[in-house]
Amino acid sequence: MSPAVTETRQVGFAGMDPPDRWPRPRSAPRPEALAAGVETLPRVGPAVQKRLAKLGLRTIGDLLAHRPRRYERPAEERAISDLIADEEAVVEGVVRAASSRRGRGRLKILTARITDGTGEIRATWFNQPWLEAQLKPGTRVRVRGKLNRFGFQVESYDLGEVTETADYAPVYPASEALAQKQLRALVGEALALARAEGDALPASLVVSEALPLRADALVALHRPRSPEEAEEGRRRLAFDELLVLQLALARRAQEREALVAEALPAAGELLQRYREVLPFTLTEAQERAIDEIDRDLAKTTPMQRLLQGDVGAGKTVVALATLLRAVEAGRQGALMAPTEVLAEQHFLTIEGICTELGIRVALLTSALGAREHANVRQLIASGDVQIAVGTHALIQKDVGFRDLAVAVVDEQHRFGVEQRSALAEGRSPHVLHMTATPIPRTLALTVYGDLQVSEITAPPADRKPIVTAWVSDDRSSEAYERLTHHLRDGRQAYVVCPLIEASETTVARAAEDEAERLRRVELKGFRVGCMHGRLKPAERRAVMQAFTAGEIDVLVATTVIEVGVDVPNATIMIVQEADRFGLAQLHQLRGRVGRGAEQSYCLLVSGPKEELTDVANERLEAMVATTDGFELAEKDLEIRGEGQLLGARQSGLSDLRFTRLRQDTDLLERAREAAADLADEGLLGDAVERLLDADHLGAS
Ligand code: ADP
Ligand code: MG
Repeated sequence: MSPAVTETRQVGFAGMDPPDRWPRPRSAPRPEALAAGVETLPRVGPAVQKRLAKLGLRTIGDLLAHRPRRYERPAEERAISDLIADEEAVVEGVVRAASSRRGRGRLKILTARITDGTGEIRATWFNQPWLEAQLKPGTRVRVRGKLNRFGFQVESYDLGEVTETADYAPVYPASEALAQKQLRALVGEALALARAEGDALPASLVVSEALPLRADALVALHRPRSPEEAEEGRRRLAFDELLVLQLALARRAQEREALVAEALPAAGELLQRYREVLPFTLTEAQERAIDEIDRDLAKTTPMQRLLQGDVGAGKTVVALATLLRAVEAGRQGALMAPTEVLAEQHFLTIEGICTELGIRVALLTSALGAREHANVRQLIASGDVQIAVGTHALIQKDVGFRDLAVAVVDEQHRFGVEQRSALAEGRSPHVLHMTATPIPRTLALTVYGDLQVSEITAPPADRKPIVTAWVSDDRSSEAYERLTHHLRDGRQAYVVCPLIEASETTVARAAEDEAERLRRVELKGFRVGCMHGRLKPAERRAVMQAFTAGEIDVLVATTVIEVGVDVPNATIMIVQEADRFGLAQLHQLRGRVGRGAEQSYCLLVSGPKEELTDVANERLEAMVATTDGFELAEKDLEIRGEGQLLGARQSGLSDLRFTRLRQDTDLLERAREAAADLADEGLLGDAVERLLDADHLGAS
């Protein structure tokens, strides 16, 4: 190459000194612009900022990621003379005059006469008195609404640029304090900065996946000209978040592989005796799960396995087998539950068997008195306690195990993940996560992508599917008759109190009142106990023990019995005002019966069908139609949408704003492949970091 050519080169190419600063191309991404607070936007003062924060909107980026709940339907633009009563339409015209008056109560009615040359309408607004000043005679205005006998009722309007009255205008999750119009305007301001984010995906990927640019996708999401455009935008944004999720999961899996655990020796005599002590033989599904666990325990990387199985499928038996492996190796096991009730229940369940096997178990909850708590902690630290059962109190910093080898975490989605990571800090036990939250397997792989999954698909063979009936409340006396029939046969029952949105105390009082009422009326002559979250732990335990021992016939309870309570002699349950419960909750509640060989029943009582919402009807129909938790999980997805998937709040799923899992399985697959190709490139590093930090992904 000739020197002359070299000299015309810009500084900074190979072999030359780079400049102190590169000139900044105008299109260069400035992602920091999106990190700026909403208060940097015009007209956002402290009050608005606070209201935005209530919706989780703190930065410009948050506004851009505020996904419209839906879009307005398209409305015909009509001349005033062509307006049809009760049809949504858009009218453009000029204000003739405006005036306001008071209506009934505190209602303020603003009326404007608007003409477009073909006729005149009297447009009305409610409770927007400030608008009068803007509707001066001669002002051009576009209104969207309906003509009825009172005039033209305005739903939205534009005085300048067409945004509110546009077809497919976005409808955001808003709040009472923050009007749709204001939110749209703010998102509009944020959109002007959308390009600042740049596109984190390599151009080659954008091309090969045939995706729109991210900035275009955001515009399409918030200002679509058609539903198709909105959908295309959404899918690009969904791809991004799925890719981040997959990259994060890959990173986590890698980190885990670096951890070291001690391999446990093969199962021996203790496990043999365990099988003999159990009053039943393990099912094939249970044996398979144990097998998979055994293989993990033989490795020097810590087990991270998710044990999935519907309520009553028999997971606890498998969990105990796993804990016993630690004991057999001369080490310790921990069993953790999300609530005190469940921890106590687990303790009661395994205590008997453990005693029979000569194993020392202890229950450690925050409910223990200080001295007792210290005592149990000491026994755990010295290794005298071989299996410790508890809530998160077990993994608080002041509880030290002498030699924890296996931890079982029940209902893991209820755990704050920080708690789970605290467990593993400085030591790497083998961990078995148990969940009765049935997530379809494909989803489980997405959410818990770095966990191995074992499934107990079939319940013990002698189980009869629970018969579920839906009864309207005018026939609730028949439901109670049926229930007392079971009681007379020596069976036990649950009555679940209505779910009321109130404080724990109010709920507790309602439960007590209901128990009292039932004692006098429907359940006269039977022993009725009551269980709710306000009972002191000792009282709760006494009630549970009495119910387990058959000293109480009926347990009237709030949803505290939702998980874990295990009394096989309870064969019938009445759920009052069942329409108020979520599908997952109903399924969990129903799982309290049908735990023995006896035919069990679940009676869902609600108001008349016609008075329930469609969604409530769908839920109750689904409950009657199937007892299969996986099927119900799918149904729940359909009814509620993805982010709220059964108990997924603690998992990566809650971070998925744009993804529709059922619909986007292809995207998920593509994101997984792309993540595998790109894993080492540090792509989307910040976003991955953020996700891992917020840690919904289940630190080991
Ligand atoms: P899960 O934890 O999955 O909800 P559990 O382990 O609590 O289920 O088991 C539910 C009930 O079924 C318990 O009463 C348990 O003793 C019983 N059970 C578990 N495994 C079997 C089996 N193989 N055969 C018969 N009964 C079983
Ligand atoms: Mg259980």
